[in-house]
Amino acid sequence: MAIIGREPPADIVIPAPQVSARHAEIRHVADDLYRLTDLASTNGTFVNGTRIESQTVRLTDEVRFGSFQIDLRPYASLIPKVAPPPRPVVSPAPSSPSLQAQSSAPMVAAPVAPPRVAPPPIASPPVASPPVVAASVPSAPAPAAPPEAQSEAMQKAPLAPEPVVETVPPPADPPARSAGPTSDMKECPLCGELIKAKAIKCIHCGENIQQHQAEQEAAVERVLFEGNPAAVYTAGQIFWCVVTLGVAYLVYHLRSKKTTYRVTSQRINIERGVLSKSEEMVELYRAQDFELMQPIGMRLLGYSVLVVVSSDPSSKRTVLYGLKNSKELREELRDCMQKEQKRRGVGLRAGV
Ligand SMILES: [Zn+2]
Repeated sequence: MAIIGREPPADIVIPAPQVSARHAEIRHVADDLYRLTDLASTNGTFVNGTRIESQTVRLTDEVRFGSFQIDLRPYASLIPKVAPPPRPVVSPAPSSPSLQAQSSAPMVAAPVAPPRVAPPPIASPPVASPPVVAASVPSAPAPAAPPEAQSEAMQKAPLAPEPVVETVPPPADPPARSAGPTSDMKECPLCGELIKAKAIKCIHCGENIQQHQAEQEAAVERVLFEGNPAAVYTAGQIFWCVVTLGVAYLVYHLRSKKTTYRVTSQRINIERGVLSKSEEMVELYRAQDFELMQPIGMRLLGYSVLVVVSSDPSSKRTVLYGLKNSKELREELRDCMQKEQKRRGVGLRAGV
């Protein structure tokens, strides 16, 4: 726990008039979570714009003391860390010879900076902040600390010997969340914290997970239709096929095979020609409308023509002939167009 205030003996000194002498306290909870509690300050404590009494925060949150906004990240080393959760709690037993023997060696630096008596560390953090000492027993108290500081530390937080020793868990000790998702838990795709499998919003980072997944899906290109236009798609063409005894059909057939449509959730591609190929492409985010034309001769056979109206000057109107089920395709394209425009941050009808 560290006291934030305008003047010593606060642990984190912010010499601003808006800040009370003892303004708030901040306590490490777990990983990168902290508990920020207002100490009945004059101007109040605010987190992300809301006045709080006591709230769990991250150091990246927007924190204000009165009107004084502060980035807490540079002060991280001044807030004592609690031991990692999976570690069993060792009750303080300074008289135990084994504990003393183990911890006396790394504690050499302990007397240098007793928590409350030391000059305010904030004046020059790099100099005043004590060196990080890796303790072999993270939860053991500092037996070498002055008796005054020791008793205080034991009363308030026996596991945290305040700025003197930052306990570093042994590398073999895995953090809680690497245990992996269980059946009713999953990892947040954004911050990696464990959350309920059914959660829509992450309680750690506050992000909307369903929305994030929808965005991820929209980013993957999905083929809606791929193939050639039908060789014969109007009643008139059938008429010519009959009249020419099939010659017209051959022509229609070759023309159909020369053209390949590839319609995806992001773009429409038309490839023409067999030997010398030409390509036409319309990006869906630049599309403005999809017109469906179905003259009677086509409607009889269930075919239609889809016209893609785009803001792209090189392909203002792109025509796809001889398509079946194009009503469904048009609905899908409209949906994909909106998703693409949203994903790329293009306003509807912006006409980029
Ligand atoms: Zn998250």
